[in-house]
Amino acid sequence: MADVFNWQLGRNMKYPYDAKYPQRQFAAVFNINRCIGCQTCTMACKSTWTFSRGQEYMWWNNVETKPYGGYPQFWDVKILNLLHEAHQHQNKAMRWKKTKNQEGKSPYGEYEGMTVFESVEYEHPENAQSRVLGYLPQDSEWAKPNIHEDTSPAHGLETDRLGFVKKTVRLPEHESFFFYLQRICNHCTYPACLAACPRKAIYKRPEDGVVLIDQERCRGYRKCVEACPYKKAMYNGQTKVTEKCIACYPRLEGKDASITLDGVPIETRCMSACVGKIRLQGLVEMNDEGLWKQDAENPLYVLVHKLQVALPLYPEFGTEPNIYYIPPRWAPRSYLRQMFGPGVDRAIDQYANPTRELLAILQLFRAQREILFKFQIQNGPKLFDREVTLSSGKKAVLEVYDDTVIGYNKVGKECVRVSVQEPVYERPKSHFNSI
Ligand code: SF4
Ligand code: SF4
Repeated sequence: MADVFNWQLGRNMKYPYDAKYPQRQFAAVFNINRCIGCQTCTMACKSTWTFSRGQEYMWWNNVETKPYGGYPQFWDVKILNLLHEAHQHQNKAMRWKKTKNQEGKSPYGEYEGMTVFESVEYEHPENAQSRVLGYLPQDSEWAKPNIHEDTSPAHGLETDRLGFVKKTVRLPEHESFFFYLQRICNHCTYPACLAACPRKAIYKRPEDGVVLIDQERCRGYRKCVEACPYKKAMYNGQTKVTEKCIACYPRLEGKDASITLDGVPIETRCMSACVGKIRLQGLVEMNDEGLWKQDAENPLYVLVHKLQVALPLYPEFGTEPNIYYIPPRWAPRSYLRQMFGPGVDRAIDQYANPTRELLAILQLFRAQREILFKFQIQNGPKLFDREVTLSSGKKAVLEVYDDTVIGYNKVGKECVRVSVQEPVYERPKSHFNSI
């Protein structure tokens, strides 16, 4: 195995192939706090890509209710259990060590445990031939994508045989909780699906980091389905090959004939359709070391690297996923830390007490169809201030300004202009009660 650097883990790790990074990387930030669980994104994807025979069970975009929900059912519990068992065999812990973040090389500290690539040899003998720790879900586990939707509360609680909670306990944030987790393929920097494929049918595009399965080369061995820890590769029983999210690449290339906008990159279907305005997509520039190029004008760079308000999902898997989440403020921190790693408290404090820059960028979510490559802020008047309490219990003063934020597309053309305070328009009497 080769030695590659994974900045989300803050260290080098083992990977079956040598490191090679795209020029730009498809990435996105999802703000969990805003999601209303309407599933519009899910249906937008379904009606575009997975409406054919053999694809009935496929939901390349799904929104599951945590902590109970999952598609396929129990996906995260199952892979976490496998990882945990592998660590037990080796007497190791899935621990994070605090370190200094040098130029974006270890923003969350250093992961001392093993990834799905490093732990495979220590887990079940049937995995002895595998390159990645994983499991193949049973058909029944793909059958109920919405299972436990809107079901609360959670782990550690006594449940009856149907999974309903017998009694609740007092949690630090809320007595009971649930939140929506929006999931698509992460177009990982070190894809587990690609690492596991014996046919070399999976590849990562050098221009945008999108991970695709060559339908001609694939023989349907399902090694990728077994290996993807996020379970985002799906086997088609009709065509006998595996399929996955393609990041709506015709839109990324500006080639979607139905919405031509001077050939500039357009956000994917799931992002464009988002009713809750929770999604912001980007194509971030990478350097030769596999790090995001410093870019204070790119909204995604500011969210992920400068402010660290958006975090990867289960970074310890080691695939370096490229979808980032602003964690929900109301859910128990211990639950969130196991899901998003040690950056959770900082991220929630940033979100609870946003800087002017963060508040401005949050207005850009789902405000336009074109992918933003740059933003600028024009300062406005102060609206109000108020006291907020941070994770440590310390008080801080939140100041809110009516700033205006301007977004630019790939060719540098302004494509969105929004202010922090939403303008109010009063309908004139001449149009009263008419639409
Ligand atoms: S999320 Fe899974 S299917 Fe998508 S690139 Fe990563 S490993 Fe592959
Ligand atoms: S469309 Fe947006 S708000 Fe609705 S479920 Fe999807 S991510 Fe959440």
